[in-house]
Amino acid sequence: MTATLMAGGPLAERIRAQVAEDVQELGGIGLATVQVGEDPSSTVYIRRKHEAAGEAVIGSTDLKLPADISQEALVAAVEELNADDEIDGILVQLPLPGQLDEAQAVLAIDPVKDVDGVHPFNAGQLYLGRPTLVPATPLGIMALLEDYRIGLDGARAVVIGRSDIVGKPVAIMLMQRGYDATVTVCHSRTANLPEIARQADILIVAIGRPKFVTADMVKPGAAVIDVGINRTETGLVGDVDFAAVKEIAGHITPVPGGVGPMTRTMLLYNTLLAAREQQE
Ligand code: NDP
Repeated sequence: MTATLMAGGPLAERIRAQVAEDVQELGGIGLATVQVGEDPSSTVYIRRKHEAAGEAVIGSTDLKLPADISQEALVAAVEELNADDEIDGILVQLPLPGQLDEAQAVLAIDPVKDVDGVHPFNAGQLYLGRPTLVPATPLGIMALLEDYRIGLDGARAVVIGRSDIVGKPVAIMLMQRGYDATVTVCHSRTANLPEIARQADILIVAIGRPKFVTADMVKPGAAVIDVGINRTETGLVGDVDFAAVKEIAGHITPVPGGVGPMTRTMLLYNTLLAAREQQE
């Protein structure tokens, strides 16, 4: 069997076109990214976010701060963006250099402008099942599952990875009323991980280990969502052994071109939601 490819590009393009239309109706909105230092991966991610913002006619500000900036100066820069009426969404690119306190930097973001859904207020709202700004990657995964009509109600979902921006929030969303999956979360200390993964109707992998999930860890017909982005000598690969797993799975996302385009686009969607909330 060869799995149906869940490409993120076409869906992302449709959502961006809708966002662009809504942005024009609102009369223009703005997104600001904050990058501290010059980590090459962060620079690429940020550049792509600004390119995508351009396609959705969202004005974007790319604030670059020196790697040796003090905590006070970083918080002051974020507070300046909070107070700027032209800016509807703020994203502080993580990780921050070691001398900085990430939790405190995130707390400085006004929750209504927190388009990455990382502020504890928004994380708490998500936990409680209330509408709020949620991290872009899980939001993109849920949109992909819906677009490809992957049934969640009563399904067994296994999430591998428990990070605050992917694993935990996607697990919470999947178990939310309305989606109703039964969710198991695995991590580096999980015993019998392959056995648990094999029970999944929906397998979501976000760990950052090239080709970690092999064909013997996948239930025939499962939907496999590969969030991983790993730069290897042979190019960009996901956390799933795509060539082997596509012969077993019912659906599978490619890397690149699966979850990545959805993440960038849902950030813009969140910026639109944030702008609407602020206009109201
Ligand atoms: P983190 O490094 O924050 O978390 C990784 C998680 O994977 C941890 O929970 C860790 O477990 C778990 N893990 C690591 N090794 C293993 C293992 N051998 N077995 C089981 N679990 C393991 O990663 P992120 O969530 O930020 O990112 C994960 C991947 O997704 C990365 O490749 C990243 O580049 C990519 N990514 C892609 C995005 C996209 O848009 N496509 C967006 C965001 C991230 P423990 O907690 O026990 O340490």
